[in-house]
Amino acid sequence: MIIDLDKKTHPFMSLSIKISTSPFGTMKERYIKRMRQMDSKSRIQTTLDAFNSIGATTDGMQRLAYTEEESRVHAVFSEFCVKENLQVRTDEAGNVIARREGRMKEAPAVAVGSHLDTVYSGGKYDGAGGVAAGIELIHRLNEKKVMTDYPIELIAFAGEESSRFGLATIGSKAMTGLLKAQDTKQFKDKDGISLETAMNTAGFPSSTLGQAVREKSAFHAFIELHIEQGRELERKGRKVAIATGIAAPTRLKVTVEGEAAHSGTTPMDIRRDALTSASRLVLDIEEAADQEKKYQTVATVGVFHVFPGAMNTIPGRVEFNVDIRGLDVSSKQRIIKAVKKKSRQLQTEKDVEVSFDLLRDEQPILLDENVQQLLAASCREVSVDPLFLPSGAGHDAMNMASICPTGLLFVPSYKGISHNPDEYTAAEDFVTGVDVLEQAVMKLAGAKEVKMSG
Ligand SMILES: [Zn+2]
Repeated sequence: MIIDLDKKTHPFMSLSIKISTSPFGTMKERYIKRMRQMDSKSRIQTTLDAFNSIGATTDGMQRLAYTEEESRVHAVFSEFCVKENLQVRTDEAGNVIARREGRMKEAPAVAVGSHLDTVYSGGKYDGAGGVAAGIELIHRLNEKKVMTDYPIELIAFAGEESSRFGLATIGSKAMTGLLKAQDTKQFKDKDGISLETAMNTAGFPSSTLGQAVREKSAFHAFIELHIEQGRELERKGRKVAIATGIAAPTRLKVTVEGEAAHSGTTPMDIRRDALTSASRLVLDIEEAADQEKKYQTVATVGVFHVFPGAMNTIPGRVEFNVDIRGLDVSSKQRIIKAVKKKSRQLQTEKDVEVSFDLLRDEQPILLDENVQQLLAASCREVSVDPLFLPSGAGHDAMNMASICPTGLLFVPSYKGISHNPDEYTAAEDFVTGVDVLEQAVMKLAGAKEVKMSG
């Protein structure tokens, strides 16, 4: 579906994008002139402000997957892209794909992009920052009249956040063939609306979802620029990080069975307290993860339930969940092994039963070494000393990595705050990110003729 900005082709009728055809050129020229008068920082800020004028609430940003807000922000994105002379289309999964042709026809694209949807009470930079960076990249190439061999694509992926349907990176999963039409029925939002229905309402029926799949041959490489959502860059005083991989979670449910008993009449030496044993295990998990620090593996207990949960009853059962993330599979396994060993000890010493259920065991995604090296070289060219980090969070890049060489660049997040209205990344930090991205894309896309416009 090619977006025709002169027609209301969008299913959400409240949406209208007005770019008049006459005087079309004049208006576009005015836009380009205005953008050229600005510096890179102001341009990025202008784009971000335009995105964040949609879905602003008293409690942060809210542009959930396949809602009117997401469609509206995609329309704003399309408008920026059209003004930068890109060919814009929306695919059958709702991803917006803006293309700048290269000299070689039919050549695979060098793609960049991120997402414009948010979580509930989200921030202004998660995803949106990367898309704004992509527009700035295109603006710079246009301004310098750079011609590339390979085409360049700027993609705004649909439905990256799992907040609405409990399923993350929906658009990039569809694009890479990892989401089938029948899968869209099982995911429902809190109002019971299925992903299938929501996509259908937004204009993307599941019957055509398969057409969003792109072949490996469509892409030469993909690079996503994203905010770090952690505080390593800030802690180390650096400006750019290159992700080495995406640390997929291994999740366990641990159940500790003791015996519920009267808290007043049961002497300390005969108790089978499930909570005190579970607490020891939680500390053991922390210690085991600490031992794996050099592999950057992390482990978290974020869910903890005590039964029966009464003031006057010794806890008879505790259930808790462990989330272990890292790029090194054996490092993750060592944590599990250490905790199981400790639990056998507890079973003997404290007379409790400990059982483990593996909820999820995903394979970490290692990002392309060559792209990492290319990004590192691009950093050096703009005098930036990059950090190499695993990404603890999932990104569209992990799906794209299944079909083409993929890179992931991080810029700093203030105090590591993310998925929160206080999320912040300075516009100048995005400028640095675009400086690196520009070098990398020029190399990947074969920018041979660079004529300065003067
Ligand atoms: Zn994101």
